[in-house]
Amino acid sequence: MAQHGTRGLVQELLRSQRLTLLMVLAMLLLSLLTSGYLLLVSQPHVERYLRIGYQARVLQLGMLDQETGLRGWLATGEREFLAPYIDGRGNADAAEERLLREIDGEAEAGITDQVVKVLLARADFERWAARAADVVPAEQSRSELVDFLREGKASFDAYRAADARSTSLILDRRAAAVAAQRTALVTVMFCYLFVLIGTGLLALRRRRQLQDDVVVPVDRLLDTIAALNDGDLTARARVSGVREIDAIGSALGELAENLGQARSEAGAREERLELLASRFETVVRVAREISGSLSVRYVSISVTEAAADLLGSATLLWVRDEHQQFVISSRSDDPHGAVPPSGIAVPAVVAAAAAEARPTTLDQARAYPLVLAGMVVGVLQTEVTVVDDDTEAVLEALLSTASAALESAKLHSEARELAHLDGLTQLPNRRRFEADIDDEWQRCRRYGRPLSLVMVDLDHFKTLNDTHGHLFGDEVLRAVAAALSSALRTSDTAYRYGGEEFAVLLRETGLVDAEPVAERIRAAIAAVTIPETGVMVSASAGVAERIGAMAHHTEMVAKADAALYAAKHAGRDRVMSALPGR
Ligand code: GH3
Ligand code: MG
Ligand code: MG
Repeated sequence: MAQHGTRGLVQELLRSQRLTLLMVLAMLLLSLLTSGYLLLVSQPHVERYLRIGYQARVLQLGMLDQETGLRGWLATGEREFLAPYIDGRGNADAAEERLLREIDGEAEAGITDQVVKVLLARADFERWAARAADVVPAEQSRSELVDFLREGKASFDAYRAADARSTSLILDRRAAAVAAQRTALVTVMFCYLFVLIGTGLLALRRRRQLQDDVVVPVDRLLDTIAALNDGDLTARARVSGVREIDAIGSALGELAENLGQARSEAGAREERLELLASRFETVVRVAREISGSLSVRYVSISVTEAAADLLGSATLLWVRDEHQQFVISSRSDDPHGAVPPSGIAVPAVVAAAAAEARPTTLDQARAYPLVLAGMVVGVLQTEVTVVDDDTEAVLEALLSTASAALESAKLHSEARELAHLDGLTQLPNRRRFEADIDDEWQRCRRYGRPLSLVMVDLDHFKTLNDTHGHLFGDEVLRAVAAALSSALRTSDTAYRYGGEEFAVLLRETGLVDAEPVAERIRAAIAAVTIPETGVMVSASAGVAERIGAMAHHTEMVAKADAALYAAKHAGRDRVMSALPGR
């Protein structure tokens, strides 16, 4: 199980959402703070300075009206000049009252101080003005009036100076407030900019992270699914993103693993079934072939070869001979199925399998008994010691058919032997020959009748066996026997003398008549060709006739053998006769 990411998909998405929310909140807060500052702090300040400046200006106008009116009154003594004074004073009083309200509770010492100084200067002037309004100018001397006027001017000048300072301070303060407002706005603007850039950068980072943690892994998952879909079960999504996607990735991996395993198991099962089917097919084919065969050799070769195919190793078949001893009947690693030399000691494993009548493993070899009706008729030996159940089942099916086929072939050849017939060629056998030649010999000796014998031996038959196998050799022997029989006269009898040797008894025939018969036999054999292979055979023959000097038919046989030997020696594929008297 792969290590999953610690962050989940939902958490990742919530994080992104939180970031957006945080950004919106920051902007909102900034907007609130800015508007709050402008509305509640900065703008009231500026407006207040405007109001103070305005009231100071109204006060100043009132003061100017008073001063001008009083100056006219004092200069002319006409009462109508007192009207502007009275109006001006009313206006100035009202302005002063409002000014005092504006600066009430003012913490900034500067402006309050200046305004108080202006009002004190005004109070000083008002005291003079009150006296001036009570003065009757006609009753005053010129110099008194001039002094009085000079006193008033000084007081008014003091007021104006204080007012100028106060006005300048108010203007300064207002300018400062406006400047502070501008600074605040610029700062806020920069804050906005900063928040925007910061948010942008964070958003980019989040985007990259989502790309790495979600988009890329999801793409990989999709690619992997496509590859799996195309049958590539080795495809794996190497994802490391959010927990859920990692989990999907490793689940996909496990799924692919299971699929692969299931596929290979199914493949193995299919292979095993195919193998079993082909093995059973082989067994059925072999069983059919051997059950119809009457040749022990053919059965033996077929069984060892089929068993070797099954086991994947060489096999050896032991069967009982006429003395009930186990001898090797065939070995799969001999391509020509040559009859192995007799007298090889029976291995312990074979003896044990025969004794116990069940498969036995011993000395790194395994042996399977061929059992028929409770009797062990043969033992198959192999060097494979570990055999799986399937193979063993098929092998046992093969061996049970083989036991029956082997036994029936053996019985057949024994029956033939008893009937004086050779099982392979269907010619009379050696036993029959011995009986016939004995009878004939007695008769011819008694009546002085001629008798000839031809001994025939196939040329280079060992080579033919080695090249084409013994079964093919058997087929050739059958063909030769048929050709040989067809070349005979009715009074002649051919026998299978042994192996690839034949004997032909020519009754009432002397050497002179025997030779052409022998030549006909040779020619008939030389004409034998085996279909499909085109293999040709030849034989050598030795001819001998009975002569009076011979005490026993074995002498005639020896003469014919000697002639045959001479024919071989002279180059084969020819007939030679035993010269009379030699
Ligand atoms: P040549 O006679 O020309 O000197 O050579 P050869 O190769 O025929 O020599 P030889 O007579 O010594 O060998 C006879 C061979 O015949 C040896 C044996 O394997 C084979 N043979 C004997 N009996 C049978 C049989 O029943 N079937 C088959 N296929 N072969 C047999
Ligand atoms: Mg021979
Ligand atoms: Mg020979």
